[in-house]
Amino acid sequence: MVFDSMDNRGHEQVVFCDDRDTGLKAIIAIHNTTIGPALGGCRMWDYDTEEAALKDVLRLSRSMSYKAAIAGLNLGGGKAVIIGNSKKEKNEILFRSFGRFVEGLAGRYITAEDVGTSVKDMEWVRMETRYVTGISRALGGSGDPAPVTALGTFSGIKATAKKQFGKESLCGLRIAVQGVGHVGYYLCKYLSKEGVKLYINDIDPNAIKRVISDFGGSVIGSEKIYEADIDIYAPCALGATLNDQTIPKLKCSIVAGAANNQLKKEEVHAKMLQERGILYAPDYAINAGGLINVANEIEGYNRNRAFRQAEEGIYDTLMKIYYISEEDNVTTHKAASKVAEKRMQEVIKLKNIYLPKKNVMGRRDSV
Ligand code: NAD
Repeated sequence: MVFDSMDNRGHEQVVFCDDRDTGLKAIIAIHNTTIGPALGGCRMWDYDTEEAALKDVLRLSRSMSYKAAIAGLNLGGGKAVIIGNSKKEKNEILFRSFGRFVEGLAGRYITAEDVGTSVKDMEWVRMETRYVTGISRALGGSGDPAPVTALGTFSGIKATAKKQFGKESLCGLRIAVQGVGHVGYYLCKYLSKEGVKLYINDIDPNAIKRVISDFGGSVIGSEKIYEADIDIYAPCALGATLNDQTIPKLKCSIVAGAANNQLKKEEVHAKMLQERGILYAPDYAINAGGLINVANEIEGYNRNRAFRQAEEGIYDTLMKIYYISEEDNVTTHKAASKVAEKRMQEVIKLKNIYLPKKNVMGRRDSV
């Protein structure tokens, strides 16, 4: 079952980490290292079953390959999940144990923070391995990636609104942000500065309170958000919120937000959105800011460069996707895949030019 799942999505390697002494149960999935080492965050989540954790890590790691490729980074795609309750079960030895597994992969996988993990957790990981990004600025890292992810998402919303409404500014548009955690908070900050009419949704009342008190806006209930009279729906919580039940209810003209894996069934639901005239900003293209941020850390972190790359790069990438979607008459999801896959194929071609040719036995001829 595991090998079939890997084959289906083209994974290179899956590592199951089981440390009885620390209680660590984690899975690291390396999807593709054609362009560079597989970089992707480590999510900590209380999965109902181990199968659910495996499914999630396989799905998320594949998206990372596409995200790195489309963002023009010198990286491949990977992801890790730690099975556990991030509010109750975090401690130093758990993350150091995870760090030792990452070190064992000798740089094929580079980790970072994600949902349920923080900069502090990554500093514990760093005690065991140098293959970790997203560490604090005090230690020479790039710190919390959420502000850069939010800026990239904001810029992506602007590109999408430009395409759909022909407007440079978002001023006056009604935007519902679902999930105002790390990224959603900063996104609301940018949106409120722009003069947007904000609608806030979260399952955590404290998160809502913080945003309303800092930036204003109205609260919208979880049951109302899909059918609300709004211009833009910005999913910034968890995945699969675009599905058979929610899409028919949508009244918005744009879906553009930071959450990963927004489409429950990728092409099926991208098509449903297209047929309803809703312009969908492919998730891994619009939310690449965090990855751009940590990729900068590998090269020597420069905050201004990271913010500029996210803001300008994501705007241009989305415009390219919308152009291809129209030219080739495909969904924006398909158009994004085309852009990412083209880059991966070009890098393979380049490697074939510069590496000795394979002989008939599949080995490389010696030079
Ligand atoms: P977070 O955990 O800080 O915030 C998520 C928020 O969503 C929380 O406030 C939570 O209460 C809320 N939430 C959870 N389930 C919800 C539901 N059903 N309805 C409404 N609200 C709900 O996470 P984050 O770092 O802000 O990331 C948010 C999303 O963006 C995730 O999908 C993540 O994978 C993606 N993302 C994050 C980054 C980053 O830089 N942090 C980068 C790329 C993508």
